[in-house]
Amino acid sequence: MSPPLRRIQTSPTLPASADVVVIGGGIIGVFTAYYLAKRGISVALVEKGSIGAEQSSRNWGWCRQQNRDARELPLASKSLDLWEQFAAESGEDAGFHRCGLLYLSNDEAEISRWASWREFAKTAGVTTHMLSGREASERGQATGRAWKGGVFSPSDGTADPGKAAPAVAAALIRLGGSVHQNCAARGIETEGGRVSGVITEAGVIKTRTAVMAGGAWASSFCRQLGIRFPQASIRQSILSVSPVEHRLPDAVVSAGVSATRRNDGRYALAISGRARVDPTGQFLRFASQFVPMFAKRWRNLRPGGLEAIRSGHETLARWRLDAPTPMERMRILDPKPDPVSIKDTHRRAIELLPQLRDAKITHAWAGYIDSTPDGVPGIGEVQGLPGFILAAGFSGHGFGIAPGAGRLIADLASGGEPIVDPIPYRPARFSGSAWGKVADF
Ligand SMILES: Cc1cc2nc3c(=O)[nH]c(=O)nc-3n(C[C@H](O)[C@H](O)[C@H](O)COP(=O)(O)OP(=O)(O)OC[C@H]3O[C@@H](n4cnc5c(N)ncnc54)[C@H](O)[C@@H]3O)c2cc1C
Repeated sequence: MSPPLRRIQTSPTLPASADVVVIGGGIIGVFTAYYLAKRGISVALVEKGSIGAEQSSRNWGWCRQQNRDARELPLASKSLDLWEQFAAESGEDAGFHRCGLLYLSNDEAEISRWASWREFAKTAGVTTHMLSGREASERGQATGRAWKGGVFSPSDGTADPGKAAPAVAAALIRLGGSVHQNCAARGIETEGGRVSGVITEAGVIKTRTAVMAGGAWASSFCRQLGIRFPQASIRQSILSVSPVEHRLPDAVVSAGVSATRRNDGRYALAISGRARVDPTGQFLRFASQFVPMFAKRWRNLRPGGLEAIRSGHETLARWRLDAPTPMERMRILDPKPDPVSIKDTHRRAIELLPQLRDAKITHAWAGYIDSTPDGVPGIGEVQGLPGFILAAGFSGHGFGIAPGAGRLIADLASGGEPIVDPIPYRPARFSGSAWGKVADF
């Protein structure tokens, strides 16, 4: 089942050319195109299904600096300001508000990890409050129990995954950007070794710059171009329950479960890090590069099934450019939620917030989280194919940092001054064996 998502109208008629073509209408693609259009650059965005219908509408909605890896923190901080700026300048509602994120724990090792992160965060100008046992129990009083400690990050917040990507796409269209749903990009044309067009199922758009923001589909697309992009996806299950009368925290996480209030009062519930690994050919192809990542996260991962093979997003097959591709056979990646995980999540949520006992389950869904070996996205022009910019592998963090990431990608695509240092994200780091350490969170 898919979670609620605003649908928008787009045009079936492609432009003959555009300065930049963005492939993929998730939150990364739409923000990239939005910032390009704001600069007066002509941009076309093609989405094989519906805007925001894959990962970008299936997530918790957290927009956080708290516990961010040092490589992503600058992008996370800029993004919080940009979420606010987007609402003010576009008049569109992405559901963003700085409600603060509350972390509660009874595990002293975890609390001391948070305390060390805070010391580092102070050097980056990020405010976060360590909570004593008394303060954590007070802030978390809806849980009705005592906590050893916690963290509250007041400047962090949440946006609404059911609204955000369509809101940005709607603003993009008003700026003159051309947006096309049910339109898969099948491949790239080149002239003299440089991008010269994007081949879609509805025709070619001539361009000198293409941005691949295809989420979990990026690696199989890159493979068609001879580009090796190590990427693996895990399937996380999540549910939402109907609004309750009691005032609960807007966004709270404990070791057991997280709960996030949506704008319509529903609560989205999930278990942090818990996911199924559905093996595929691509998974085996890159398995050795993901050993450190899986070694760090294995406690929460369970073996999955054939779901991902059937979906086709990690296919190793080469496809033709003049016939339907796996992207046209799977317009929206809508994997089955894991019933064991859904039941467990619901039980844990009621244990954490007993008031949720009265709430009905309204939706249960799953999403494939696409990851790189170090848990940091690949953003940048690909060596050997001028004009082809990769923007994928957001590793479970891409929603919150999307405005900043979109700005950075727009900067790279238009030759502007980058909003943050792009070096930590460059895709070339995956070509050797020496990529960075795996992100902690
Ligand atoms: C359960 C879950 C919880 C999460 N929680 C959070 C959170 O709280 N905070 C956070 O920051 N992040 C979170 N994430 C991660 C976040 O959702 C993703 O990192 C982010 O949405 C990635 O955006 P994207 O645009 O790269 O990918 P997607 O949203 O997957 O979009 C990619 C789009 O590209 C399209 N596409 C692919 N190939 C083609 C093609 N060839 N032609 C045309 N279109 C194509 C697809 O149809 C898709 O719509 C979570 C993810 C999940 C699944």
